[in-house]
Amino acid sequence: MKSSGFNTLAASLVILAATAVVAAYCFFYPSHAHETIIIYISTMVFMTIILALSSWIYKRHGSSVGASEFIAITEDLNTEMIIWSDDFSYVYMNKKLRDLLGIPKEEASQRSAAWQAFGISVPGIEEFEKVINDPAYESRFRNAAGTVTSIAWSTSLVKKRKKSNLYLSTGFNLTELKKMRANLASANDFFNSSMELAEIGLIMSTDRKNYRASSEMVRMLGLRGSSITLSEFRSLIHPNDRVQFDSAIKSTDTSVVRSIEIRIKSADGIYHWYSYRFKSIEGTDNTMPLFGGAILDITQEHEKDVLIERLAYIDEVTEIANRNKLLDTGQEIYDTCRLLGYSYWIIVLDIDRFHIINDTCGYKKGNYILRNFAHILYKFVNPGGLAARISGDNFALILKDYGDNELPARTVRSIQDEFAKMAVDELAAISLNCSAGYSRMPADGSSFLDVMEHAEFALKSNSSNQGGICAYEPSMHDSIIGDNELEKALALAIDNNELQLFYQPKINLSTGKIMGVEALIRWIKPDGTIVRPDAFVPIAERSHLIGRISEFVLNEGCRQNKLWQKMGYPNIVMSINFTSMDFYQADIKEKVLDALAKSGLEPQWLEVELTESLALNDIDYAVSQMNKLRELGVKLAMDDFGTGYSSLSYLQILPITLLKLDRSFITDIEHDNIAYEIVSAVIRIAKSKKIETIAEGIEDNVQESILRMAGCDYGQGFLYGKPMPPEKLQEFFEQNIRK
Ligand code: C2E
Ligand code: MG
Ligand code: MG
Repeated sequence: MKSSGFNTLAASLVILAATAVVAAYCFFYPSHAHETIIIYISTMVFMTIILALSSWIYKRHGSSVGASEFIAITEDLNTEMIIWSDDFSYVYMNKKLRDLLGIPKEEASQRSAAWQAFGISVPGIEEFEKVINDPAYESRFRNAAGTVTSIAWSTSLVKKRKKSNLYLSTGFNLTELKKMRANLASANDFFNSSMELAEIGLIMSTDRKNYRASSEMVRMLGLRGSSITLSEFRSLIHPNDRVQFDSAIKSTDTSVVRSIEIRIKSADGIYHWYSYRFKSIEGTDNTMPLFGGAILDITQEHEKDVLIERLAYIDEVTEIANRNKLLDTGQEIYDTCRLLGYSYWIIVLDIDRFHIINDTCGYKKGNYILRNFAHILYKFVNPGGLAARISGDNFALILKDYGDNELPARTVRSIQDEFAKMAVDELAAISLNCSAGYSRMPADGSSFLDVMEHAEFALKSNSSNQGGICAYEPSMHDSIIGDNELEKALALAIDNNELQLFYQPKINLSTGKIMGVEALIRWIKPDGTIVRPDAFVPIAERSHLIGRISEFVLNEGCRQNKLWQKMGYPNIVMSINFTSMDFYQADIKEKVLDALAKSGLEPQWLEVELTESLALNDIDYAVSQMNKLRELGVKLAMDDFGTGYSSLSYLQILPITLLKLDRSFITDIEHDNIAYEIVSAVIRIAKSKKIETIAEGIEDNVQESILRMAGCDYGQGFLYGKPMPPEKLQEFFEQNIRK
């Protein structure tokens, strides 16, 4: 390196150092890289000009540094500049520096002026060596305006002389830069506090492997520091949300902000729900885009959403999906089936005799049974399927169809087994079962609702058959539609008072006198057709219309009997039929009492007929319900005795007053010895228990005399009279009185 003129090594060092400073600054304050680079380039351009100029002057004028051309050129340059000899025998500063220091031109050649420029108050050889050797020597002084100014000096040897060396120092005013940095720092603080207040955590990555986390992110997640690798970050994400995270961050699309909701383990060690919004940011140099993301804790909102979803979609009693969820999800599955050629089964299940169980055991136990049934169903859901409660004791199960046609029936049988087992284990006295109907989607209907209705058709079509499992067939339509229409027509018939009571006399076999009547319901259509109860009572039971019918029968029966009493006919017992639904009503006593009160009929003239299967369901509850009626003074008859499973031992427990021997024993009693033996044994035992007996379906005199001989108290049948309207019965009364 030549030591002549400008020292190029020193110049290179200065440039290198300045470059390093600028690069470092850009790294720490990337968002201000633009401005810094512009300032840097301007300075370099300027320095290059100075270097070129100095070199040119040196070449032309040799050592004549003080040459007026050079002075003229530098004098008005827009940067601080000083030429000085290290013994300060020569000092020249340009106008920009003089103005900054507030030194008049005539004083600007003094050594003290140079010291002032370099901010040296106590001059010493070491200080000046620092100025010379430090490529960015920083001087601080109070400028002419009184404010503190910082200049970074870059010094180069201009000329080596015998006595002293000559140096050129060019300044770079740091004051603006410092102000900018201070502003930046406070902007950064402001930004950080905003993020902290908003509780937003930020992360940034250039390579998608290593992330830098903001201080708020560090706080939220309890990170050890601001650097975190992708795999460390991923390990904090809930295992169930990782797939979603992985697929989301694969995107390099810089045009959209993406958002996912994931659970991330947080500073408190538990998973919080976060909204994670992120975006790829285009790099300035067309390299890999930057990757930035923000997380916001949405745990509370999420909990609210979950609650809303729960309220809208979860059945309160069983905690499985409700009807809304079933319809929504069912339709989605149906659409997927159509789109992708899948197939699913929909099974609709109904707990057999649940209304009886519910009334018998109370709502608490009823709910317990529903919950258990729901949980059993839930166990059988296969991937993509669903278990839901439709309403009451109606449930649905959606199962993926893998081509096994036996799957629905097999599943239902397993459910039935578990359900029965649960009843034995936990509800000893009750036997539980369920029936089911099923159909296949999309094959069995044009929408999910359609397919589900068809499964319900299948269920209804076997409803008399408890524990039945029935697949939907298009031919079922007709009979179900028939039933549904009948149901609607029946509801209308009740409104239009088309229901009427017919009365069939009951005769005292010893006296031949009428002792009571049985009220038997008839539906008399406007065209005069009479519909028998067998054709509509079962449908009424299924559709819950039976409640309205029974209320009518009870009130009308009492009213009619009281009317006959008032008309002067002999007092007789009015028998009415109750279904299990009527009988197990918790307020049965109040209802009967109300009918008696309204009509003014005394309770001993009212009798309620119950079937034995009904009483057998839960003996304890049945007895307590019967006692409620007995307490009122109302009579109780056991209808159709001998057709069910009842054993004579029940006669010991049930508080009945009359036993009705079923017609099937009577029909052939003159030829069928066994029937005769049974009938006479039952009559004997009943007598011993002070229970009266009546034979149903007596059609001829032979039957009548056999029964009389066997000790039967009363008889009812076509021999005496068919069920008849009240006016007809009045005629019957009159004839009977005359007998
Ligand atoms: P049930 O209570 O056993 O009524 C007796 C049935 O036997 C009546 O049929 C009656 O007409 C019929 N019957 C009586 N004597 C003879 C006879 O000598 N020969 C033959 N072949 N039949 C005879 P009905 O009126 O058709 O009633 C059928 C069933 O419908 C009743 O059986 C009862 O279980 C039910 N039912 C009738 N009315 C009502 C009602 O108001 N409410 C309820 N819940 N059920 C009713
Ligand atoms: Mg009856
Ligand atoms: Mg009967």
